Amino acid sequence: MSVGVAILGSTGSIGCSTLQVLARQQDRFRVTALTGHSNVALLERQAAEWRPAYVGIVNGGMRDAGCGMRTGIDCLIEAATRPDVNIVVNGVVGAAGLPATLAALSAGKRVALANKETLVMAGELVVRAARDGGGEIVPVDSEHSAVLQCITGRRPTEVARLILTASGGPFRTWAPERVAQATVEEALRHPTWKMGRKITVDSATLVNKALEVIEAHFLFGLAYESVEVVVHPQSVVHAFVEFVDGSVLAQVGFPNMELPILYALTHPERVPDSGTRRFDPVAVGALTFEPIRPEIYAAYALGRAAAAAGGTTPTAFNAANEVAVELFLAGKIRFGRIARTIERVLQSYRPTGASTLEAVLAADGEARRLAREAACS
Ligand code: NDP
Ligand code: MG
Repeated sequence: MSVGVAILGSTGSIGCSTLQVLARQQDRFRVTALTGHSNVALLERQAAEWRPAYVGIVNGGMRDAGCGMRTGIDCLIEAATRPDVNIVVNGVVGAAGLPATLAALSAGKRVALANKETLVMAGELVVRAARDGGGEIVPVDSEHSAVLQCITGRRPTEVARLILTASGGPFRTWAPERVAQATVEEALRHPTWKMGRKITVDSATLVNKALEVIEAHFLFGLAYESVEVVVHPQSVVHAFVEFVDGSVLAQVGFPNMELPILYALTHPERVPDSGTRRFDPVAVGALTFEPIRPEIYAAYALGRAAAAAGGTTPTAFNAANEVAVELFLAGKIRFGRIARTIERVLQSYRPTGASTLEAVLAADGEARRLAREAACS
């Protein structure tokens, strides 16, 4: 029997890459559910090609969604908890992915998680939902996939330290004054990865790496002091893992999400994949590593401080960033204002414990309100 896969956010970058992977693995997996948000035309094409049992569109009110599509926000949870679904690939962007992640884990599914915002805003809840419901979180994010590939088969007590790599985004070598004025077009020109708009901006601010530090903390149970970041412009080494005896393993490959997506589906096994570009060290050439320049990535330090503060502070950090990035992409605030908005939200936000969904959603709502105020004043 093949394994049933639901793809939440099938119309996005991760969603489309997942379908590319599955097209080569049809003897192992079948697509049982697809969901999109607004891109009805693409979702219809995907549904016609893959014929899943369930198709849902969140924002289906724009026009009559054909093909027997379900509409509305509930389609994410419906798709994620169906009996014919074994693995849920969560490729939704932002906080909207949380309820489906929790529902899938509570229903005992494997969640192949790209939607890192879920773990940042509600790490404690997500980990608990997996434990109580018998579900399993397997990262899709390339750095975390790299860590998982290095530690699989080892005991948690053997791991001493993680070093996640960051490309540094398009502004790595720019002067701080110039970065603050960067345009949307400049921020979307990522040097090594082709991804959705929100994560591409997060890579330019380095918020993405702060989110990933928090993601690593909850996935692998490591203290924040043991999760470091280094800038690596070529994006070939995805992460280093240092073990207690001082030995260091790394996972390497050309920057392409298809391999981490496939691994999240098959972990701990590996299966042959004809689509992977064979690794060639000579084609890669020199690999370089640099420290983070704090003067151009102010939001990274804010994210680390939010992580260390704990409770609902990471929830507020994530929400403030989502609001600020939306405003930046809409042309309403300057690039430099993203970090400034997050900073002002964290200055006035009063954190609480993050062990209930009500507390997390209240924190998310409050931080969004503060962010809209801070961004526009
Ligand atoms: P995209 O913007 O390309 O895709 C987002 C997907 O989510 C689309 O299918 C979109 O639907 C859907 N969506 C958007 N808003 C909502 C909502 N409110 N409710 C339900 N669905 C929604 O993003 P990416 O694929 O780049 O990123 C997805 C997630 O994966 C993010 O959390 C990102 O950080 C993470 N990630 C992405 C990587 C990449 O290479 N792209 C790498 C590592 C992590 P529609 O298009 O129909 O409107
Ligand atoms: Mg990543």
